[in-house]
Amino acid sequence: SKARQKGDVLFFDQSINEQVQHDFLLEEELRHALSRDEFYLTYQPQHLIDGDQLHGVEVLLRWNNQSLGQVPPFEFIPLAEDTGLIHEIGLFVIEHACRDIAKFNAEQGQQIQLSINLSPKQLIAKDFINQLVKRVDCTGLSYQSITLEITENVLISDLVAVTPVLQQLRDLGFSISLDDFGTGYSSLSYLNTLPINEIKIDRSFINKLLSSDQSDSLVKTIIAIGASCHMKVVAEGVETNEQLQRLAQYRCDIAQGYLLAQPLKFEQLCERYPSSQSA
Ligand code: C2E
Ligand code: CA
Ligand code: CA
Ligand code: CA
Repeated sequence: SKARQKGDVLFFDQSINEQVQHDFLLEEELRHALSRDEFYLTYQPQHLIDGDQLHGVEVLLRWNNQSLGQVPPFEFIPLAEDTGLIHEIGLFVIEHACRDIAKFNAEQGQQIQLSINLSPKQLIAKDFINQLVKRVDCTGLSYQSITLEITENVLISDLVAVTPVLQQLRDLGFSISLDDFGTGYSSLSYLNTLPINEIKIDRSFINKLLSSDQSDSLVKTIIAIGASCHMKVVAEGVETNEQLQRLAQYRCDIAQGYLLAQPLKFEQLCERYPSSQSA
């Protein structure tokens, strides 16, 4: 009926309106998040599969907003990229993570790798490398101990602009990791041309590792390709012992996931991995 149609249209308009209002609020709150000190960092451990020892951590950003509560990264990172806020937020992550991990290394008597997620927008910003190096230098961490993770999909859309920046970063000694590997469209063709020394197998493949023959052979193949290209291979989203055993069998280098540890606050990280020196 006509009334029903009208009602549908009204309902439709209203839900769009609510979405727009939510986005507006989110953006407004995001603009003040840094100055209100609403961001904090968590660290998810990465273990060497052979020997089960701590290899490094991936820093994962968290936002606890005064009115929206905990907002997940998949909601605010794209918005931060669209609004340009990602530059300042990204530098916050770099500065605080480097400081934390330098402290961890000093106090725990260890030398762990720090992985940092980068948006391609950050990478192609004019002064990015200077800004990065400045912050790392302040903490005394070596460039070699820092891995920069770039998501495969977005990398390709900015390939021409991003490639020389990645090359400069490699020349300085930083490691480059291709994140969410396997979800992009032409993964293999640029493995040789990009200055990459690590690949991270996407969680979706690890998730189906034991239930799908296709995922199993894909994971096995990615690990073999990584080895033949002299790259480290990281499996993300490892949740079960069976998955870990299979990855070990295929000689995957590094595992990350809830089986080993959730993303931890810095204090939790230090408690969980106490000094190897102390007796
Ligand atoms: P990502 O880089 O793929 O990070 C891995 C995500 O998987 C994290 O989600 C982590 O909490 C989650 N995860 C880890 N282990 C498991 C597991 O065993 N099972 C399952 N189901 N999930 C697991 P999170 O923290 O919500 O981050 C989502 C995405 O947001 C990240 O995906 C990354 O792309 C982005 N992100 C997070 N922090 C930053 C940042 O500082 N800068 C930028 N540019 N992006 C960030
Ligand atoms: Ca990542
Ligand atoms: Ca990933
Ligand atoms: Ca992922």
